[in-house]
Amino acid sequence: MKVILANPRGFCAGVNMAIDSLERALELFGTPLYVYHEIVHNRHVVERFKKRGVVFVDHIEDIPANSVVLYSAHGVAPAIRAAAIERNLNAIDATCPLVTKVHLEAIRFAKEGYTIFLIGHEGHDEVLGTLGEAPGNIRLVQDEQEVAALELPDDAKVAYLTQTTLSVDDAEVIIRALRKRFPHIAGPKKDDICYATQNRQEAVKDLVPDVDLVIVLGSRNSSNSLRLAEIARSYRKPAYLIDGVDEIAPSWFVNTDRVLVTAGASAPEDVVQECVAYLKRHHGATVETRTIREEDVSFQLPKELRSLTLVN
Ligand code: SF4
Repeated sequence: MKVILANPRGFCAGVNMAIDSLERALELFGTPLYVYHEIVHNRHVVERFKKRGVVFVDHIEDIPANSVVLYSAHGVAPAIRAAAIERNLNAIDATCPLVTKVHLEAIRFAKEGYTIFLIGHEGHDEVLGTLGEAPGNIRLVQDEQEVAALELPDDAKVAYLTQTTLSVDDAEVIIRALRKRFPHIAGPKKDDICYATQNRQEAVKDLVPDVDLVIVLGSRNSSNSLRLAEIARSYRKPAYLIDGVDEIAPSWFVNTDRVLVTAGASAPEDVVQECVAYLKRHHGATVETRTIREEDVSFQLPKELRSLTLVN
């Protein structure tokens, strides 16, 4: 068996920053320490922090007054920030700057009187946060059918934004439908789909023709990981999204000589390496890393942490 290891894969700059923020907050404040939603959408990352005393909540009301709370990489709506202030929480904002960019675009378009179509997935943490920036001005659009059903005059003052972790190709189809329907529609100055999402998708598209099967490490609630598996399947290759090596089924590898291994932006590298070790052990796999793009993006810690020094 030959394993092709896609590069780039795994942690992006936003996930690195969010995890480093939580590590730093643990050093500075100890436990109990609260995180609103999962710090990143990965079971291993969340479980490892839970074991160290971090409490993940879905409702800000579940956090005792005067506690320390981190906002996850996916961002939060202003109503959540307001509720945190009301409870006198010490909030640390680990929102990825590329998500914040979309929030700022939503605020700008809303101020200028646009009706905004947010292309994204209903219920995703990031989408909830962005919708919350201008609830009266934004509508979620999930596919071409929803574009066709929009009840607005063709010359309405409209703009579009996208979730950062969509399939580039799926988003393009919806954007095209919006442009056809509203020829004057405004959009973001630069793509909202982030560099990490685009690079991981491009790597799968480049490498999938050369393999029989694709393994994507990532959790099922990770939007960008799901998209990687979908893209592989769109090339008619079997693709499995798994959290870890324990989910591998030996039956996948009958008549399979070449396997592409990649990972979503929130999946730790050690779970990738465990998977590769399994394929070496059970199938005598040799491993080749193929790099389709170098990444050198990094984000600094949130300002709330930068301004604090560790007191021993
Ligand atoms: S996937 Fe993109 S938007 Fe999401 S945290 Fe990573 S860099 Fe930021």
